[in-house]
Amino acid sequence: MKNDAKTQETESGRGGPGGRDRNPAGDLLPVEEARRRILALVPILAAVEVPILELRGQVLAEDIRAGEDIPPFDNSAMDGYALSAADVAAATPTHPVALEVVEHLPAGTVSRRTLAAGQAARIMTGAPIPPGADAVVMVETTDGGRERVLVRGGVRPGENLRRRGESVVAGEVALARGTVLRPAEMAMLATLGRTRVRVIRRPQVALLSTGAELVPPDATPGPGQIRDSNRFGLLGQVAELGCVSIDLGLAGDDAAQLRALIDRGLGDADCLITSGGVSVGDFDLTRRVLGEFGPVESWRVAMKPGMPQVFGLARGKVVFGLPGNPVSSMIVFDQFVRPALLKMSGHRQLERPRWPAILDEPIHKPAGKVHFLRAVVENRAGILHARTTGPQGSGILKSLTLANALIILDRDVTRVEAGERVTVELFDRPV
Ligand code: AMP
Ligand code: MG
Repeated sequence: MKNDAKTQETESGRGGPGGRDRNPAGDLLPVEEARRRILALVPILAAVEVPILELRGQVLAEDIRAGEDIPPFDNSAMDGYALSAADVAAATPTHPVALEVVEHLPAGTVSRRTLAAGQAARIMTGAPIPPGADAVVMVETTDGGRERVLVRGGVRPGENLRRRGESVVAGEVALARGTVLRPAEMAMLATLGRTRVRVIRRPQVALLSTGAELVPPDATPGPGQIRDSNRFGLLGQVAELGCVSIDLGLAGDDAAQLRALIDRGLGDADCLITSGGVSVGDFDLTRRVLGEFGPVESWRVAMKPGMPQVFGLARGKVVFGLPGNPVSSMIVFDQFVRPALLKMSGHRQLERPRWPAILDEPIHKPAGKVHFLRAVVENRAGILHARTTGPQGSGILKSLTLANALIILDRDVTRVEAGERVTVELFDRPV
C-alpha cells in the first residue's frame, strides 16, 4: 500500500484515447515560453503621486533623499542620567559617585544649560543630550533623588547615546527607486517628512466569467447550473497583488453579452481577465470575441492544470482568457497573470522563489506537461517536506483551499518516489 503512487487525473472529461489532450507534446507551448511572451508584451505603468497611507505594496518611482540627518540630534537611548563619563569612571556598587542633578529632561525638551563637572541631568529616552554630557547611565545603576544621584557604575563615553545621523545622513538616498514600499518604508518616509511620493500606479484589472451554466453565488442553481466561483477566486488574487479590480460580472455563452462586457471592461482597465470558454469544445467564443478588439491568440500551454489559454492585446490592453475549470483559472492566474500584474506595478521580482523539498509520497505522471500540484509544505527540523492535498482534478477547489504551496514537476518527469527532492513554491502564508 505504502508505495501506491498517485496517478494524476486527466482534465475533467478531456483526457483519454482520442481526446484533445492526446496531441503530441510538440504542439504545446512551453510554460517558460508562454511567460516570456506575456512579459514581453506587458508594459510598466506610469508613476503617480500618492499619500503615504495609500502606497503600501507599491513600487517607488523616485529616489528618496534625506533632507536632514536622522536622528536630527544626539539623544538618550535610555531613561537615566546624562553625565560626563570621566566623572563616574571610579564608580562601583560599593563606592558610588554622587552627582548633583541640575535638570530634568523629558523627551521633547531641550537643555538650557551646560553641565559642569560633578553635575548630571535626569534624562528620558529620546531627549537631546545636554551640552557637557557625553554618556547616559541607566536609571537601574543609580540611586536617585531629585537633587542628587548616586551612580553605582562607570560608563564609556558615548554609551547609551543615539548619534545624530546614525540612521540616515542628510543627502543620502534613504530609499531607492524600485523599492517595494512595506510598512518599514512607510515609517522611513514619515520620518523624512515625505507624506506624498511618486509610485508606479496600481493596475486596474477588469474581470468577468463566461458560461451559460453559471449563476451568481447568492442564487440557488437550477438543474444543470452551478455557482460562479472563478470570479471570486480571481478577484481575491487581484486584490492580494494590490491591484484595483473592476468586477464586470457574468456573461453567458453569448457573443453579444460577452462583447458588451469586454467593451465596458476595456474602458478603464489596464488588464482584462475572462474565465471559461477557451477550450476547443467551447467553439472558442472568448478568443473570437476578444479577437474583435485586437490581436489575441489561443494557446495550448504544456501545463496541467490550465492548458487552454487566450492571451493578447485588446484595444491595446493586456487580456487573459483563463480556462474555466476552477483550479485551472487560479493556477494560470498564479503562474502568468500574477507576474504580468507585478511587472505592470513596477516590481522587479516577478516570480516566487522556488525551494527544494522532500516529497513524502510517490507521484507518477505522464510526460509532456509541467504539473502544478497543490501541496502542503512543512518545515521539519529545517528541511521542507511536501505532500499533495489529495485528489488533484482541475475542478477540485479543495485541492487549493488545503494547500500552502505548489509542487512543480517538470515536463519530462514521470515519477518521483517518496524521499526524493521536488521543487516547491510557497504561497504567501505561514508554513
Ligand atoms: P470552460 O472552460 O468554459 O469549458 O469550463 C470548464 C469547466 O469549468 C466547466 O465544468 C465549467 O462549468 C466550469 N466553470 C467555468 N467557469 C466557471 C466559473 N466561473 N465558476 C465555476 N466553474 C466554472
Ligand atoms: Mg464554459
